[in-house]
Amino acid sequence: MIKKIIILGGGTAGWMAANMLAKRWANRGIDIALLESTDIGIVGVGEGSTPQLKSFFDYMGIAEQEWMPACNATYKTGIRFCNWSTKKGFENYFHPFPTQPDDYSAPAFFYNAFVRRRGADVYAHPDKFFLATYLASHHLGPQPDHRFPFQVGYGYHFDSSLVGQFLKEHAKKLGVTHLDHRVVDVRLNAQGYISQLMTDDGQALEGDFFIDCTGFAGLLIQKTLQVPFVSFAKNLFNDSAVVMPTAQVDDFAPQTTSTALQYGWMWNIPLTNRVGNGYVYSSAFCSKDAAEVELRTQLNMLDSDVPVRHLKMNVGRVEQHWAKNCLAVGLSQGFIEPLEATALHLVQETILSFAEAFEQGNFSEQEQASFNQKINQRFEAVRDYIVCHYRVNSRTDTDYWRENANNNYLSDSLRRLLQVWVSGDNLTQEIERQQIGGYYPSASWHCLLAGYGVFPEQKQLSAGNAIANKYKLETIEDFISRCALNFSSHKSQLAALRAHM
Ligand SMILES: Cc1cc2nc3c(=O)[nH]c(=O)nc-3n(C[C@H](O)[C@H](O)[C@H](O)COP(=O)(O)OP(=O)(O)OC[C@H]3O[C@@H](n4cnc5c(N)ncnc54)[C@H](O)[C@@H]3O)c2cc1C
Repeated sequence: MIKKIIILGGGTAGWMAANMLAKRWANRGIDIALLESTDIGIVGVGEGSTPQLKSFFDYMGIAEQEWMPACNATYKTGIRFCNWSTKKGFENYFHPFPTQPDDYSAPAFFYNAFVRRRGADVYAHPDKFFLATYLASHHLGPQPDHRFPFQVGYGYHFDSSLVGQFLKEHAKKLGVTHLDHRVVDVRLNAQGYISQLMTDDGQALEGDFFIDCTGFAGLLIQKTLQVPFVSFAKNLFNDSAVVMPTAQVDDFAPQTTSTALQYGWMWNIPLTNRVGNGYVYSSAFCSKDAAEVELRTQLNMLDSDVPVRHLKMNVGRVEQHWAKNCLAVGLSQGFIEPLEATALHLVQETILSFAEAFEQGNFSEQEQASFNQKINQRFEAVRDYIVCHYRVNSRTDTDYWRENANNNYLSDSLRRLLQVWVSGDNLTQEIERQQIGGYYPSASWHCLLAGYGVFPEQKQLSAGNAIANKYKLETIEDFISRCALNFSSHKSQLAALRAHM
């Protein structure tokens, strides 16, 4: 019987866990406390989401008007990737979040990509085939007019510290107790289960179940329970970031921009009050100072005295996310670098899967093992999608990019997907065969590979015949631009949210 849960850590992961569990288990007589050390603080980055975050706020019953203006949040319909590929015409592309009208336009894209892989010179860049891409390019917000009868998936950008504060107040209203102490020691019982957290002011806090949200410290899962960490360093070279805000811009696309630089990539995330920027790089190839100079140069801030923040990242995952009476959530359970902004998505999935297992009374070792396997598969699937961005890059300007392109440390799953693509076979069928479409759907894989221009060289292509030209591009473009008539500007949609505050 679990009567008392202690969540250790008050970053986004801790407060999301507190909210979800307090809401879900409101009538189970479970006492939930969140303990954090404001002296240690939070990582304070993580400003982009996938569409999954919408379902978190929907589940909590928190309207966008309530939280978005309070957290300087904006909408996100996808990510624009710039300069990852040097192939002519493929220097940048957009990875769109799914919308229902894709059902009409994506088959044309899949088909064109298929026949181009087989040597026909047809248009197969992803950008003209998706409504979300059009919305971003035209600075339109993702909320359609009420007469538009199709669903549009979207995510958000936000100030992570403000989201933490917002969620903290909300969790307190749901009955979560908030404590502020530094944990200096952790006691185990005779079976090796966590029994008490010892604080710096001499208290011994007891609980039945503990949720480790201590960020990269991994105080409970890694340091106390000694669960091994599986590093992804051989797959993903980046281990550092340098972060700096720039001034607010007036009119901006609902998109994250990810621009490849010499030793990694830079994000631009527009919020309502500023732009968040960060350079994620590999310290094996680039020093801290050089990374800062490159970031400042990119942002035209070389002579500015705006301070930067340097961060280190542990890229990988723990072997077990749930061990004994402890669940790890957030950076303590692992991190796969921020390229597709998946961290909070994994947080949400972990809490939800754990809550479901708990409700079925599945505390057996077998159930624990299957939960851990499920979360590990999710981590690995996300990792493979991110790895693919590096593997298929065609930059040759630095050793960093050349080594990434030659890195054969790939999972069998990713190796097979690349083989299928290059040999002109059906990628969607392969994704279905591997049952990985629930992590990244076929459209995401197609956008990545076609977006980088992973096709036969232009000189090897021959003019498309009637079969190759089955779809008329103008018809698709016309369809998308008419769909887009149902959307107002991103700027006006954000203003409407503020007006409702
Ligand atoms: C460079 C970078 C960019 C990122 N970008 C994204 C992104 O775009 N999208 C996304 O989803 N995610 C992103 N992330 C990940 C995201 O920042 C985290 O997933 C998110 O902030 C949750 O962090 P956390 O709560 O696990 O840890 P933290 O925010 O680090 O919180 C840890 C908590 O544990 C507490 N704590 C630690 N030790 C003790 C102790 N001894 N006693 C008491 N309390 C303690 C701290 O006080 C703090 O409250 C990014 C991460 C990095 C590094």
